[in-house]
Amino acid sequence: MAARSRPAAALEPPTSASFKANVDYYFDRAAATLRLPEGLLHQIKACNNVYLVQFPVKFGNRYEIFRGWRAEHSHHQKPLKGGIRYAANVNEDEIEALAALMTYKCAIVDAPFGGSKGGVAIDARKYAPEQLEKVTRRFTAELIRKNFIGPGVNVPAPDMGTGEREMAWVADTYDAFHPGGLDNMACVTGKPVSQGGVAGRTEATGRGVQYGIREAFRQADDLKDLKLSPGLEGKRIVVQGFGNVGYHTAKFLSEDEGAVVVGIGEWDGAIYDPKGLDVSKVGAHRNKKRTIRGFPGAKTFDDPASCLEFQCDLLVPAALENVITEKNAGRIKAKVIAEAANGPTTARAERILLYRGIFIVPDIYLNAGGVTVSYFEWAKNLSHMSYGIMEKRKEEMTMNKLVSNTERLTGKAFPKAEREELVRGAEEIDLVRSGLEEVMVRAYQEIREVWLRRKAVTDLRQASFVVAIEKVAKAYMELGIFP
Ligand code: NAD
Repeated sequence: MAARSRPAAALEPPTSASFKANVDYYFDRAAATLRLPEGLLHQIKACNNVYLVQFPVKFGNRYEIFRGWRAEHSHHQKPLKGGIRYAANVNEDEIEALAALMTYKCAIVDAPFGGSKGGVAIDARKYAPEQLEKVTRRFTAELIRKNFIGPGVNVPAPDMGTGEREMAWVADTYDAFHPGGLDNMACVTGKPVSQGGVAGRTEATGRGVQYGIREAFRQADDLKDLKLSPGLEGKRIVVQGFGNVGYHTAKFLSEDEGAVVVGIGEWDGAIYDPKGLDVSKVGAHRNKKRTIRGFPGAKTFDDPASCLEFQCDLLVPAALENVITEKNAGRIKAKVIAEAANGPTTARAERILLYRGIFIVPDIYLNAGGVTVSYFEWAKNLSHMSYGIMEKRKEEMTMNKLVSNTERLTGKAFPKAEREELVRGAEEIDLVRSGLEEVMVRAYQEIREVWLRRKAVTDLRQASFVVAIEKVAKAYMELGIFP
């Protein structure tokens, strides 16, 4: 917030565009407020190992060579966890940065994993599904070859350019290489529910972003400096990226929280309507026309990045890293930036934003809903049981008795719909949502406490890194690696 967020003076943000240099800067900025041995901090910050593989895939009569990476940032907890990204310009710097973010993210939400990330340099839009299947299966085989995947070793998940379809191919390939392996399904998360996935994983990151933003907008004291009233009802929102995370975030914030989505940005342009966009209708328009451009009633802008500068209360970057830079930070009109994407704000931009009193809810906290529900899926696969199956009927019987007795004693009947809702036992989706909400709210309170109570900590990102570093450091010290 304006009053409390003072940029740290001692460290200079990096001038380079390296994603990893920016993540390392955020780490150093938080580490500078802690009294931990230098060697331990160095071990936490460094990426433990990176596997770079070049592999051929045969399409008809020709071979195409692909490059893939899997970075393992930290082994303080096992298995390691992190998505697989398909994008044309994926590179090692980016994968290492994302793996580091995974370590810190998991620590913040107490998901018992070390951080990892993978990627293949491929523009998925240019390939047919059968071709993508070949690439995915071959990349998985390469990961198996070097022990970079396995239920107790390293567990991938979806990220940009991949989804449940790719995760099903990964699981099936792993299973083929490990016949009879009882826990094979736990080698990857984000699978379709019919293939061992968990209800609610597809939209989990967007759901988590919704819960995180809702929690931030519940803090009346924090919002006062920004001249914002508490709650999301009527707040004007702009979302950059209309993929998995962006679409679900926009949908939940508008449909469940009453916020008004006034702008959406995509790779080929942006749309703006001050009266508000119907997110489901924009989704249907995009599915039909393969673009959000030309959505009826909205103004279309050619420059995809223009959405970042639209008039709004809350800006949600949900596409790429390094989109808010020192070049456009001065022109951003939002009072709050909620980082649904990984690394959307460069350190230099952040300094400008904090100076301008813009409040940032950082990626390492805000988009942790995906890994949280992945944790639920992994645990479900290892237990070989769906959530809620043992308790549902028992819960319904107990509630039925309670409601019937209340009706008998009061002589009044509950309205039918209310009665049905009261006696309905929890399904897997209810439990997943409940668990996710608990994790997101608790983690927000934890980082907010550190931000408010520790003098040296000036903003929520620094607080998030402090919380993460302390938890990882504790694990290393308990393991006896750093007495
Ligand atoms: P996605 O591939 O489903 O969606 C990304 C969207 O961004 C696509 O619609 C794409 O067209 C759009 N896009 C590409 N270039 C753009 C540009 N220049 N301007 C605006 N939009 C552009 O990916 P996703 O899974 O939604 O991931 C988005 C971000 O969220 C990434 O940073 C990712 O690392 C992060 N994230 C994803 C998850 C997850 O569970 N999927 C979890 C945590 C974090």
